[in-house]
Amino acid sequence: MGAFSGDGAGCSARLLKKYGATVLGGLHLKMPDSVCDSKLLKKSKEEKIEIIRRAEEKIERAVLQIRSGKYPQNGLGFFPHLVGLLGQRLWFYGKTRSYSDKLKINKGRCVGCGVCESICPMKNLTIENQIATPHGKCTMCYRCISECPQQAITLVGKEVVEQYRLENFIS
Ligand code: SF4
Ligand code: SF4
Repeated sequence: MGAFSGDGAGCSARLLKKYGATVLGGLHLKMPDSVCDSKLLKKSKEEKIEIIRRAEEKIERAVLQIRSGKYPQNGLGFFPHLVGLLGQRLWFYGKTRSYSDKLKINKGRCVGCGVCESICPMKNLTIENQIATPHGKCTMCYRCISECPQQAITLVGKEVVEQYRLENFIS
């Protein structure tokens, strides 16, 4: 998510372990942010392409490492856990919760196509009377806002500035 880093891999690892997985390593990749209704975080197309290029290089290095039997350990130790907790989760948890019921649907634009309903991981959206209707469970993933064909959904800002799709930035 561009601006933030901590123990994202550690969070995933702890969750996976809870369900019985054996975790051998973790890799952190910096990617362009998905907040597409705010000009504040915007980077140029060239900057986003460069971020993705670096991520691809990092993946290639990790693959070589894994082939030689060494697994990257990004975010898995005690220190990243502490940094992630103090630097991100304690603050963002409250921040995210304060936005859980702030999703806005532009009723003049929404055509009730159901794309947002089908991709929301929180099942926060349903189509009622041909209009998308949120139910106060948004976790700010920005998936629906990036995918709405009518640019009818916003959260932090009032207008969609740019919708993020990886294929816009890779050849
Ligand atoms: S994706 Fe957009 S247009 Fe389609 S139902 Fe959702 S808000 Fe409406
Ligand atoms: S931003 Fe994510 S969690 Fe929130 S309503 Fe859209 S798809 Fe669901």
